[in-house]
Amino acid sequence: MGGLQTARAYIGLGSNLDEPVRQVSLAMKELDELPLTSVKAASSLYSSRPVGPQDQPDFVNAVVELETTLSPLALLDQLQALEQRHRRRRLRHWGPRTLDLDLLLFDDARIEHPRLKVPHPHMRERAFVLVPLQELDPSLAVFEQAPDHWLQRLDDPGLQRIGNSRG
Ligand code: ATP
Ligand code: CA
Ligand code: CA
Repeated sequence: MGGLQTARAYIGLGSNLDEPVRQVSLAMKELDELPLTSVKAASSLYSSRPVGPQDQPDFVNAVVELETTLSPLALLDQLQALEQRHRRRRLRHWGPRTLDLDLLLFDDARIEHPRLKVPHPHMRERAFVLVPLQELDPSLAVFEQAPDHWLQRLDDPGLQRIGNSRG
């Protein structure tokens, strides 16, 4: 099986509809079942206040570390197909959703593609991404800095740990 490039990718999961804890836990299992991909580590689950419109339920968030030989765009295709299987409807920007899967990091790649920006452009400002990422690997580079560097710049993480992903 030589020749296949194995990458380490980090995925941010979020849900605030239809039993969010179940949506996120199920999605972790489904990520592990994607072709050429396995989940190496999963963070705890966290709850956070919504970004954008406030008249919607709190989110459940987590981050998983993947090992994959998919290309970044092939992985994005898989993530979007998985969102669709969770019957996600795009009702409004930053509105409620059953499942959101963001590709946060793909090795140390910088990608500027119409469909895919990596590192995820908003991850520096989001405690619900940085805290679970830090839990998985505090020495990870996010725009050349450790997660904690960005976390210290946030006023209010507004985040609560709600338990381990393994239940
Ligand atoms: P945000 O990107 O601020 O977290 P969102 O998750 O609500 O917002 P979506 O509606 O899920 O945004 O995605 C909009 C588009 O973003 C997708 O169609 C996808 O092509 C694009 N996109 C760009 N970069 C990424 C990335 N790193 N991960 C996932 N989608 C991305
Ligand atoms: Ca998102
Ligand atoms: Ca998204």
